[in-house]
Amino acid sequence: MLLHTIAEVREQIKEWKKEGLTIGLVPTMGALHNGHKSLIDKSVAKCDRTVVSVFVNPIQFCPGEDLDKYPRTLDTDEKLCSDAGVDIVFAPSPNEMYGEGHILSNDFLTYVIPPFFYTDKLCGKSRVGHFDGVCTVVNKLFNIVQPDFAFFGKKDMQQLIILKKMVKDLNIPVEIIPCPIVREDSGLALSSRNKYLSENGKKEALVLSRILLNIKSCYNKGITDVKALSETSYSFLNENHSLEYLEFRDKDTLEEKSIADDDTIVFIALRVENVRLIDNIELKG
Ligand code: AMP
Repeated sequence: MLLHTIAEVREQIKEWKKEGLTIGLVPTMGALHNGHKSLIDKSVAKCDRTVVSVFVNPIQFCPGEDLDKYPRTLDTDEKLCSDAGVDIVFAPSPNEMYGEGHILSNDFLTYVIPPFFYTDKLCGKSRVGHFDGVCTVVNKLFNIVQPDFAFFGKKDMQQLIILKKMVKDLNIPVEIIPCPIVREDSGLALSSRNKYLSENGKKEALVLSRILLNIKSCYNKGITDVKALSETSYSFLNENHSLEYLEFRDKDTLEEKSIADDDTIVFIALRVENVRLIDNIELKG
């Protein structure tokens, strides 16, 4: 069932709550691929009812980012969802979510602002305000759908850590279910932004997973010094890659590590053909 208004969703949720059914929410920006589908499958398997939101959230895009050209494929998204057993696809307009004329400045909208310590690093450094937009929209979706479980991909690990923190700090009655990164056979993490890459760009983009796998294999051999682990990556990089960051941080607090351990996640962001790509790996396991 494709719904565009908050009122329609609320009405259906009220019915399900009355029947005592559990509700899973999978928030997305659409252009669904098998990464999204893995979250959807988990929700359908675990919950009595599943809601997938498809909303390209304007307030999480920074000036100069790809808001206007972000891929929008609602028809195929809806088909993927109905084939997967989704009960509601919620695809609101920006006006529906933020009001007529949607004045998005924080002079006019109540934002949920996660702690600066979590947002001044990694993607937050170049995407100022991005996680404020994410936390605000996810909070709104939680209030609209009132899910028991919400499914998020480890592909966006900083986002996942920040949302877990938000749920804990604000006592939001939802359980966050982290889901593994889905990759192509080549190792490339699936992303809606991979559509911007040429065939050659996709090959160049393998550098992210190669660097991360190499670091993990060095860690497994006993190297724990972060400087030494980082240095193993340089030989993978060439003039087609513009590295934004390669950082070793704690899986819960995002504190920087100088010695890697099982609580460490390695985060990478780099540009290929001017497309910004991110990936990460947990050193445990
Ligand atoms: P997006 O539409 O990019 O906002 O992503 C919606 C959700 O799908 C987020 O929780 C992402 O982390 C998750 N996701 C995107 N790509 C992948 C992937 N390759 N593997 C697992 N989850 C993913």
